[in-house]
Amino acid sequence: MHTPSADASTDAVATPSFEQLGVPAELASSLAARGIAAPFPIQSATIPAALDGRDVCGKAPTGAGKTLAFGIPLMLRVRRARPRAPRALVLAPTRELAAQICDELRQLADPDQTIEAFYGGVGFGKQLKALRAGVDVAVACPGRLEDLINQGEMKLSEVDLVVLDEADRMADMGFLPAVKRLLDACADERQTLLFSATLDGDVDVIIRRYLHDPIRHEEQRSQDDVDTAEHLYWSVERPDRVEVTARIVARTGPTVVFCRTKRGADRVAKQLDSRGVSAVAIHGDRSQGQRERALEDFRSGRARAIVATDVAARGIHVDGVSCVIHFDPSEDAKDYVHRSGRTGRAGASGTVISFVSREQKRDMVRQQRGLGRQIEVTDAMPDRLPEAAPFDAPPPRAPKPQGGGRGGGARNGGGRPGGHKGAKPGGGSKSSSRNRRRNGRSGNGPSGGGSGSAQRAQVARHN
Ligand code: ADP
Ligand code: MG
Repeated sequence: MHTPSADASTDAVATPSFEQLGVPAELASSLAARGIAAPFPIQSATIPAALDGRDVCGKAPTGAGKTLAFGIPLMLRVRRARPRAPRALVLAPTRELAAQICDELRQLADPDQTIEAFYGGVGFGKQLKALRAGVDVAVACPGRLEDLINQGEMKLSEVDLVVLDEADRMADMGFLPAVKRLLDACADERQTLLFSATLDGDVDVIIRRYLHDPIRHEEQRSQDDVDTAEHLYWSVERPDRVEVTARIVARTGPTVVFCRTKRGADRVAKQLDSRGVSAVAIHGDRSQGQRERALEDFRSGRARAIVATDVAARGIHVDGVSCVIHFDPSEDAKDYVHRSGRTGRAGASGTVISFVSREQKRDMVRQQRGLGRQIEVTDAMPDRLPEAAPFDAPPPRAPKPQGGGRGGGARNGGGRPGGHKGAKPGGGSKSSSRNRRRNGRSGNGPSGGGSGSAQRAQVARHN
């Protein structure tokens, strides 16, 4: 078996594959195509039980992979809904989260499964239309859901699968009375999955009253938790970014710098080099050999910074990264978490710095609010960062043979346009997911799609 590539499982002795957890081969390979090759611990611990219909309560910090832990069993088990009577309900505290869960579930869904988000602050039109056509999975915030029920537009009596996501935040926000009413309105015979950063206090009350003999998985905050890192937001305008980056790297040591584009990554690496900060770039247009060399240079300390695009970053699993810089902002909150997870790994401390220009400020505030962070944008203060331990750079690499050497020469050379696209979300998942349910849980033996998905995992790992 290939080594697991998932962040949170690199320490595990032997991580099971998704297929070994009971996930059909087709779905497992569509996950692998998105760079999700091996289950995170909470997924290994809860997916088999949830697929068997057991109740589950899972405690884990942000970024642990809770959405797939419930999303996979949910989409595999949910049945078809009649109009206005969903079969599964996911309750979430905020609109952002509901929308995000809805997107994630759609990526796991068969083309004929219907998933809709229900939250306030938007008109009823689209939500009512969806309900009248039939919604298999309703992802909802408690307030809007109760409105729809009171208007007679929706009933929960056919819901036999309920997920409570971020139960602790729902409690903090005062939603528990509504959550209880909603749970009471669901079918008595049902499966309930509860996920939360804590399982005590009010959440414990819910567990005892509404979950039946749940399997419990509790993950401590120390391991691989993004939140062990300090998150900073610095007001830096575009022309100053390279200079500030150079000062950060010089001060804090090994740094991963995230850029939006491949060309941007190449440019920033060059500019850092010319300021005396050794840097390499890693992105999808670089050959396998170039990427491996770049990573090796970074691991060995020959390069103090590695400048990466989001897709390429999936291959960066290096301990001892002091700092992550969001040179360009991430597309969304998920990418932010993923990028930031390059530092503070395995409970180590680390610093995550976002450069925020005047125009970017509003979006950044909104994105971070979605992650539950109330942020403050301050001036750049590289001199206040924790200082790196003294460090002797290893000797430079022996010069490569000129001419026929693989992948030598231009940083941008030899890129196959679109060659890395396989790792993009949604790649090929729809067309191939049709047979999934037919295969069911029996179609997932090791021979099922073995070599194909292993290869894809390999590709995802190195992109
Ligand atoms: P949580 O809800 O626990 O905070 P999420 O479910 O939002 O965490 O997952 C955080 C990120 O990790 C997401 O970008 C998700 O796509 C990614 N992720 C989840 N499981 C895996 C996995 N097994 N391998 C790789 N990435 C994963
Ligand atoms: Mg979550």
